[in-house]
Amino acid sequence: MSDRAKGTQTESWPAEKKRRHAIELRLNDLYPGTASDLCELDFDGAFQLGVATILSAQCTDVVVNSVIRRLFSKYPDAQSLAVANTDEVEEIIRPTGFFRNKAKNIVGFAIGLLDEYAGQVPSTIDELVRLPGVGRKTANVVVTVAFGKPGVAVDTHVQRLSRRLGLTTSSDPSKIESELMSWLDPLDSGSFGLRLILHGRRVCTARRPECSACALAELCPRVMI
Ligand code: SF4
Repeated sequence: MSDRAKGTQTESWPAEKKRRHAIELRLNDLYPGTASDLCELDFDGAFQLGVATILSAQCTDVVVNSVIRRLFSKYPDAQSLAVANTDEVEEIIRPTGFFRNKAKNIVGFAIGLLDEYAGQVPSTIDELVRLPGVGRKTANVVVTVAFGKPGVAVDTHVQRLSRRLGLTTSSDPSKIESELMSWLDPLDSGSFGLRLILHGRRVCTARRPECSACALAELCPRVMI
């Protein structure tokens, strides 16, 4: 069976299309701005954004931001991070969790950039995912936020909200990404993903979604059904 989004069991294709568009507009009103405006990580340039996004796995942006201030004051670019002392990097990023693996990934990312791209962060998803430590989520964050290109970063918030809002029936991040990209306006796709993340953090949380106070309630199958 196709994973095409199904808002409700009885919803027609035109009705679903209309509802999706209304969700897009409502989210746009709630969280205006470009992908770069909506990203809550503190960074300076594509390299720092890539590192911050790798560190954000299973960690809040608040913790990541507190850690990267110190990290980037010592290692502001690929050249310095590639030759960093691993023990020191681990110690700095420890609060983000999984710090040994993350240290390996961010140093590997820096080395990969120097080896493959002369220290410059590439601007395509295909090139980015070839680098150590970079999965599709990180690659999509970098291309949308740092380069203003199309993409949707599918993290746990986007997975959860896409399902609750009836935008997908899949739980596979790659499938969700391609389903969303199949109908989103490419120029707004990066912002749409980040708006879902913000809504997931503030209203539609994993444990206690605040449906009664949610501006999307009338468009959400979870409430409509
Ligand atoms: S109505 Fe409830 S489930 Fe639907 S998006 Fe809002 S908070 Fe989430």
